[in-house]
Amino acid sequence: MMDNYLREIQGKAVHDQFKSSKRCVWVPGPVIVGAGPSGLAAAACLKEKGLPSLILERSNCIASLWQLQTYDRLKLHLPKNFCELPLMPFPVNFPTYPSKQQFVEYLEEYARKFEIRPVFGERVVRAEFDGSFWRVSTEEAEYVCRWLVVATGENAEAVVPEIEGVQEFGGEVVHTSGYKSGGVYKGKRVLVVGCGNSGMEVCLDLCNHNAKPYLVVRDTVHILPREMLGKSTFGLSMWLLKWLPIRLVDQILLVVSRLILGDTGQYGLERPQLGPLELKNVSGKTPVLDVGTLDKIKSGDIKVCPGIRRLRHQSAEFVDGRTENFDSIILATGYKSNVPSWLKESEMFSEKDGLPKMPFPNGWKGEKGLYAVGFTKRGLLGASMDAKNIADDIESCWKAEAKHLSSISWTSQSLQRNI
Ligand SMILES: Cc1cc2nc3c(=O)[nH]c(=O)nc-3n(C[C@H](O)[C@H](O)[C@H](O)COP(=O)(O)OP(=O)(O)OC[C@H]3O[C@@H](n4cnc5c(N)ncnc54)[C@H](O)[C@@H]3O)c2cc1C
Repeated sequence: MMDNYLREIQGKAVHDQFKSSKRCVWVPGPVIVGAGPSGLAAAACLKEKGLPSLILERSNCIASLWQLQTYDRLKLHLPKNFCELPLMPFPVNFPTYPSKQQFVEYLEEYARKFEIRPVFGERVVRAEFDGSFWRVSTEEAEYVCRWLVVATGENAEAVVPEIEGVQEFGGEVVHTSGYKSGGVYKGKRVLVVGCGNSGMEVCLDLCNHNAKPYLVVRDTVHILPREMLGKSTFGLSMWLLKWLPIRLVDQILLVVSRLILGDTGQYGLERPQLGPLELKNVSGKTPVLDVGTLDKIKSGDIKVCPGIRRLRHQSAEFVDGRTENFDSIILATGYKSNVPSWLKESEMFSEKDGLPKMPFPNGWKGEKGLYAVGFTKRGLLGASMDAKNIADDIESCWKAEAKHLSSISWTSQSLQRNI
């Protein structure tokens, strides 16, 4: 294999010897798929170690999820110190919860600082290990590399549930990835399906634009205030976890939440049996950090509904038998990974959910030079940890191979001298 590698490096470009008729490109460092925060973080950590990499990105910009698929009022859900990427803090003049525009600015600056120039418009449709190298195919080209870093994210494709009668509905049905602002819904009755952070925030946005939102809450949900005891709830939880067992921290969070928010169950938002942090650990389900939606639910400006039984023309029938009329439906039903659709590998990633099979913190490394960044269900903090681990690992592999290569070249030079 090392001989092969040497030949590849000397040749720089790999051409017709491969089956495919596509343009073939040899990449001396890792290929990273996805130019979101995770892909950028991995490229920056590699760059800092002097290692080259190539990012392939299907859209025409970095952080496409943030730039193209999120609503205008979005701010980081967690304080900026928990969202910064490795090697570059947020500017001090940014607020604790930067807006999406500020976050994108920060990422643009990050890419500039580390001279990261992704290849845009390159959707990876297939990637496969051929026994020696990874072959990463887009419509246009085949990239050949030693290391493949998957950074396509936990949010690569919108999840759109099948709802009976959706064809009959007749009004607009849009996923949150296509929602920008409540401005266009003024005076309209809007059904928001899903009560995670996005669903709750979209309801608030609709309210602020004088629409009439109804929120479908099918499941139990933990709602926590975004701040408690003068600290961010997330920061406080992380701090308490250093000293106390998770169940005790959950108890503290629930008692304080009850004091601040009251009994959320009273408003149709029952809490799960497990505490918020334990539930996150077991199922990956993120608690909702309330930014004002609950007050609107309490005041009746946002109405809570149970699950949908079926849709009819401009109306929805709920499981409790109630029927309400609606102009539009917004699906805040989340996202999923798209890895199984393009990565031909079944050891590291689960076919079922497209996430690494190994639980956090060990999901970042697979076999044969395969890595994953940003699949920890722990947001940008988890992505940063992955990126650093990956860069360290590739660096040690790179150094070992370079040493091997130089010993091969030294031996061949000595042989030549001796002839
Ligand atoms: C509304 C919202 C708010 C969030 N707020 C926070 C927060 O405050 N704090 C926090 O820590 N986390 C937050 N998260 C979670 C998470 O940190 C972000 O989703 C973050 O963008 C993840 O970065 P990523 O690079 O892993 O994935 P993404 O940002 O999704 O980037 C993946 C990239 O891969 C590209 N791609 C996908 N498939 C292919 C393919 N086949 N070929 C080529 N390119 C491909 C995509 O176009 C995309 O650009 C939030 C998530 C959402 C949805």
